[in-house]
Order: sequence, then C-alpha cells, then structure tokens
Amino acid sequence: MTSLQTASSDRFPAGSAAFPHKHLLGIAGMQPWEIAFVLQEAEQWVALNRSGAAKHDDRLRGLTIINAFFENSTRTLLSFEIAGKRLGADVVNMHAAQSSTKKGETLIDTAMTLNAMRADAIVIRHNSSGAVNLISEKVDCPVLNAGDGTHEHPTQALLDALTIKRRKGRVDGLIVTICGDILHSRVARSNMLCLTALGAQVRVVAPPALMPVGVDLFGVQPFHHFDEALHGSDVVMMLRLQNERMQGDFIPSPREFFHLYGLDARRLALAKPDALVMHPGPMNRGVEIASHIADDLERSAITEQVEMGVAVRMACLDILTRKARGVEGWA
Ligand code: ASP
Repeated sequence: MTSLQTASSDRFPAGSAAFPHKHLLGIAGMQPWEIAFVLQEAEQWVALNRSGAAKHDDRLRGLTIINAFFENSTRTLLSFEIAGKRLGADVVNMHAAQSSTKKGETLIDTAMTLNAMRADAIVIRHNSSGAVNLISEKVDCPVLNAGDGTHEHPTQALLDALTIKRRKGRVDGLIVTICGDILHSRVARSNMLCLTALGAQVRVVAPPALMPVGVDLFGVQPFHHFDEALHGSDVVMMLRLQNERMQGDFIPSPREFFHLYGLDARRLALAKPDALVMHPGPMNRGVEIASHIADDLERSAITEQVEMGVAVRMACLDILTRKARGVEGWA
C-alpha cells in the first residue's frame, strides 16, 4: 500500500495546493494525491447522505450551478442536480433538446451565453470530445466535465475509485479488469488514468475492433480473451457498447458479443471469489452482463456506484467553488 491510500488530511498539501485546478476537465493532469484528496473529501458526503434526517449542508447557498447537458443522461445529470441542492445551491438544468445548439448556434456562442448568466459553476456534458475544454476557456467560472464524447468522464472514474476503495479497503495493488467497448468509452479512459494513478493493476478486454491502438501507453494490459483476463481479478468492470458512437458494425451481433465478452456466473467464477462487479450504467442486460450477476448485491456494486456519484459530485462542487466563496487557504 502506498502513502496515497493511507494519506490522512494532514498529509495533503494545505488549501488550494491540495487541488490547484480551476476546472475538473479530466483525470489526465490530476496528481494521485489530488485524486486521493477528492475521495477523502467525498467521505463526509457519503455519511451525510446516509444520515437520513438532515441531508443538507448550506455551504453553496446563494451560488448558481448550471447543468448544461448536450447529450442524454440520467444518473449523471440527476446526481449533479442532487449534489448541488444538497449543498444549498440553486441548480438549473439545460437540456440539448431545448437549447439553441439545435438551431445552429456555435459552441463558442453557447459558451458566451452560459458565461453571461454569471453562474458560479457549469457542469457540461457534450457528445464532442474536447468541447468541454473549449467552453472552459471561454467562461469565467469553474467547469466540470460530465462526459465529453469518447474523451473523459472524470467524476465517473472518481466515484468508481471511491466505490472500490470503500468495498475493498484500498485501490493500490488490486487487479481491475475493464471489459467491453474500450475504444468508445470515456468511462474506460478516465478509469484507466485514475486507477493506474492510484496504484491498481488494470487489465482491459475487448474484441480487436473495440480495442484502441496503443492502449498499453496508459500503463494497462490489453487482452482479447475475457476468461484469460479474469484470472485473479479483484474487480470486474463491465462497459456498455456505445452504439451511438459507432459508424457501421463493430460486433457480429449482441448475442455473439455476450457469448465472448458477457459477464455470467461461469466467467465470474474465474475471478477472485470475492471479486466485485461494477457497471457505470446504463446497463444492457444480456448484452454485456447477465441479470442475475447485476442484481447480486453480494457481488455487484452497481447501485453503490450511483450512491457514490452523489457524494463525489458534492465534493467536486465544494472544492471547485472554495476560491469564489473565499474559503480560507483557497487563494
Ligand atoms: N453513463 C456513462 C457515460 O455517460 C456510460 C455509458 O453511457 O455507457 O459515459
């Protein structure tokens, strides 16, 4: 176990040095201790959210958060909305279907419009990789990436790391196998960066057509045979086929895909006996994961991932608005 996993708050740099970024655009560019800091901050929100009666803290009272979603979302949008409201902020949701981008407005004009609203933080999901970075350059407030194309989904990776850390007691030294559409998955990309930064040994499994060229540069081990990759795995993370990002057919059929890359009881038995099953959702039951595995609460952490999503997003909104709120040490 490295000092990162055992780090207590007094080992993190103080104030803004603990998270010296204006925006949260991706896991790329984050230092391991910055990731560990966010995870540690999120713990208090897990406790608050579980506390029943008073699920509320007013530290973001008077702040306005815009959730600008140019691509569909259920979990991420809802959890960012709940996160903002649990911290007392005014939260406004903007859906692509209602926005002027559908009428031909450019991304930069959209950014200028969002900026003119004088929000205190903007959460953005966009189907183009890099769009969130571009908008962040044009607005004054912190921007949080809620998923951009095939690029990154940093809060998903943070919530996944928090789920693993809480279930397994650590991330460092674990074997995490990520299986499915690695090529199009921003979840896979952010998780490869995050989990390797925290010291996990990451294996990625996909049919050749869905494996990015040069994936080993992420410090992960690529496999084409799922059974082989599962041996000794502590965590098995399944991914959805990102059909909306595919042009043409990347797999022979969903049935054939499940036969080779689906997680069922026989396959799960090849991993460690206590291996944890994860999926970022939305799940395609019977395509990447068998229903009885997804619903097995002993093995599956899928609903816990959703719960950790709220806590992690509360931590991110809190941390990124500290400077604007004049919190001591966040100059
Ligand atoms: N919800 C995740 C994302 O937005 C995973 C998925 O859609 O498959 O990337």
